[in-house]
Amino acid sequence: MRENILKILVCPDCGNELELIKSNKKSRIIGGERIEEIWDGILKCKNCGRLFPITRGVVWIYPKNLMRKDIINKLISSAQRTRTRTSPQDSE
Ligand SMILES: [Zn+2]
Repeated sequence: MRENILKILVCPDCGNELELIKSNKKSRIIGGERIEEIWDGILKCKNCGRLFPITRGVVWIYPKNLMRKDIINKLISSAQRTRTRTSPQDSE
């Protein structure tokens, strides 16, 4: 996910802004252009504190009553184990 997308994302439960509390960035070449994106991380609602994992560039945002808690919790705990860093090399 690209960092500028953060500006338009809101918590599906309370509608408040999300903040990036953990991130592992990665840069890739897409169509000849170097793109820096958040590859793994955790977004946190500034109001209700709900956590939303980011895994392999995908943000998992679901309303509380629609999400599979077991899956989301697994994703959050694996994102919490990733070290925060910025990798300058290209991969994938
Ligand atoms: Zn919220």
